Amino acid sequence: MNDKYCKLPNEFGIHVKSTKNEIESLEGEISFTGEDGKECWYQNKMMPIFDAQHKQVGEILVRYDITQKKIYEKLSITDALTQLYNRRHFNYVLTQEISRATRNKSVLCFIILDVDYFKKYNDSYGHKAGDDALVAVAQALDKSLHRGGDFAFRLGGEEFGAIFSSKDESSALEFADQIRKDIKALNIQHSNSDVSDHITVSIGLLVVDFATTGIDEDNFFTLADNALYIAKDNGRNRVVIHQNETLELF
Ligand code: GH3
Ligand code: MG
Ligand code: MG
Repeated sequence: MNDKYCKLPNEFGIHVKSTKNEIESLEGEISFTGEDGKECWYQNKMMPIFDAQHKQVGEILVRYDITQKKIYEKLSITDALTQLYNRRHFNYVLTQEISRATRNKSVLCFIILDVDYFKKYNDSYGHKAGDDALVAVAQALDKSLHRGGDFAFRLGGEEFGAIFSSKDESSALEFADQIRKDIKALNIQHSNSDVSDHITVSIGLLVVDFATTGIDEDNFFTLADNALYIAKDNGRNRVVIHQNETLELF
């Protein structure tokens, strides 16, 4: 347990007081960086105190330090090697994003990305070098995704995923291919690969316009995975987009 409480900044008390008027009670989480540079989290509840004439004469602030809980929460959704979101969090985010896209009738895109001939990489350079290469690939993927609704995941082994939005198929395709190029441009030597002197990835892309189509989580994953399979089969180091006319409407 964390027995050392972080010191709340003065501005927090001022903020609570300034928002209390006419509110029966106020509850929420707040995070800030403490004097020692560590991130702290508090769960706060503020309730006004009234006198017999219902005039507000003060307030009670109840505060719990939830820093430790937040640390555990973060660990449970983070892949230990790459620091990307893990498969568990992918399942959660995918459900959320499909609901959002259905509500907004928007376009949702998903890529599954798999490192080419990675077994040969481990065999040639060792498992530790393999781990380092996976971290570099993860960082390149993460760097490419910078908008609010973009998410990068390690789905397992040498397989990664990304969920993002795009206006149409051709921009999504261009974006996915840029990710492929960015990873190749890391220039991680792979002299045993059959497709390049450097580490490359194959990408399966799915673009769904929820204005015209509905699809559940399982199919969403399967269709991108099928496209990845074709990318591998067609020679690797490429992006293959799932052809939407084969999507089932529901
Ligand atoms: P393909 O181009 O068809 O994807 O071939 P591949 O060799 O990449 O695919 P395969 O599934 O045969 O091998 C995947 C390899 O990835 C084998 C496994 O040891 C390695 N791998 C999976 N997870 C990790 C990891 O965390 N660290 C390291 N170093 N290697 C990993
Ligand atoms: Mg592979
Ligand atoms: Mg694989």
